[in-house]
Amino acid sequence: MTRGICILGATGSIGRSTLDVVALHPDRFRIVALTGNHRVAEMQEICRLHHPQLVVMAAPEAAQRLRMALRDEGLKDIQVESGPEALAEAAGMSGVDEVMAAIVGAAGLLPTLAAVESGKRVYLANKECLVMAGKLFMERVHQRQITLLPIDSEHNAVFQCLAEGKGVRRIMLTASGGPFRTWPVERLAAVTPDQACAHPNWVMGRKISVDSATMMNKGLEVIEAHWLFDLPAAQIDVLIHPQSIIHSMVEYVDGSVLAQLGNPDMRTPIAHALAYPERMESGVSSLDLARGPDLRFEEPDLQRFPCLALAFNALRAGGAAATVLNAANEVAVQAFLDGALSFSRIAAVVEETLTDLQPAAPDHLDGVLEIDRLARASAVRHLSGQESSRRRSS
Ligand code: NAD
Ligand code: MG
Repeated sequence: MTRGICILGATGSIGRSTLDVVALHPDRFRIVALTGNHRVAEMQEICRLHHPQLVVMAAPEAAQRLRMALRDEGLKDIQVESGPEALAEAAGMSGVDEVMAAIVGAAGLLPTLAAVESGKRVYLANKECLVMAGKLFMERVHQRQITLLPIDSEHNAVFQCLAEGKGVRRIMLTASGGPFRTWPVERLAAVTPDQACAHPNWVMGRKISVDSATMMNKGLEVIEAHWLFDLPAAQIDVLIHPQSIIHSMVEYVDGSVLAQLGNPDMRTPIAHALAYPERMESGVSSLDLARGPDLRFEEPDLQRFPCLALAFNALRAGGAAATVLNAANEVAVQAFLDGALSFSRIAAVVEETLTDLQPAAPDHLDGVLEIDRLARASAVRHLSGQESSRRRSS
């Protein structure tokens, strides 16, 4: 029997890699539902190849265009819907056994939670979900007793190295250091979105590419690891490893260190999770250590990467600091991508928003969404720098 899959964020980088892996195994999987935002031509091409039952485009106008395009192609049996409720319905629909959560940012929270509530097996790429609402999200995962498997390469690596789970001293999340690891710090103020998105080892969506360049991505991953593996900040280390061959490591109390290695290609963690507890082909080539680059390691420089320190501090602070951090970062990164904020101001906007708002941890999802909204509004005020200069002069 094949397993029915829903991919939330099918038109994105993780979504496309998932479709590639699924296409290698028609005997195991069938695509039932797909979601996107506004890229109609891409979704149309995916529909031609994978013929889902249901497609949801978050933007209504995109759904309308897709419906017409599919009708013109004779694919009118593919149902097309739009809007946030339809995203959640796709994740929870009958016929779907497993959900790849690969929407970027806070927009992924409600549909991913819908998958959890419906008892689906969930593959989690959308780390922002856990940063924003880790406690409530994991409570629902435990209550519903669903299988949650990490797709983020570091967390997938830790998961693979945590076979026994006992006697763990610490985990070491590796980080490439992004495109600016060796740049003079003074030059960072003038970097462009295209420079920030040119990652040395991975091809990814633009938001996570900017997060990798600031190392906020690693900070979000520290918080993600805290919730996934139930470890305090003191047992989560970050190690720069520019070659991105070791995807993370687990150190045990006896001094053993287990690492997971592989070529930097997201199809490996995706195939691992989809096949778990079995193994299956991913299409990724063999790792050639003899001919590959030397593996090197260094400590992260927190002066160069203040976002990493902000994320560690938010995790230690608890309350809703991580929700505020995530929202402010999404606003700042979007402003940077739109040319409205300099690269080196991203960390400043996040820090100023964290200073502004220090809410207690909410015990309901509505509380999380309200803090997310307030933090976004505060971050927008800090974008122009007016808020901080007003404060200095008062
Ligand atoms: P991407 O930008 O390539 O794709 C994002 C997807 O989300 C697209 O399908 C888009 O249509 C959809 N989307 C965007 N905004 C939406 C909205 N408001 N409502 C509904 N759908 C929306 O991003 P990506 O690189 O594939 O990353 C997806 C997630 O996976 C992120 O959370 C990222 O941190 C995580 N992740 C990505 C990688 C990677 O290699 N790309 C690795 C690890 C984790
Ligand atoms: Mg990662």
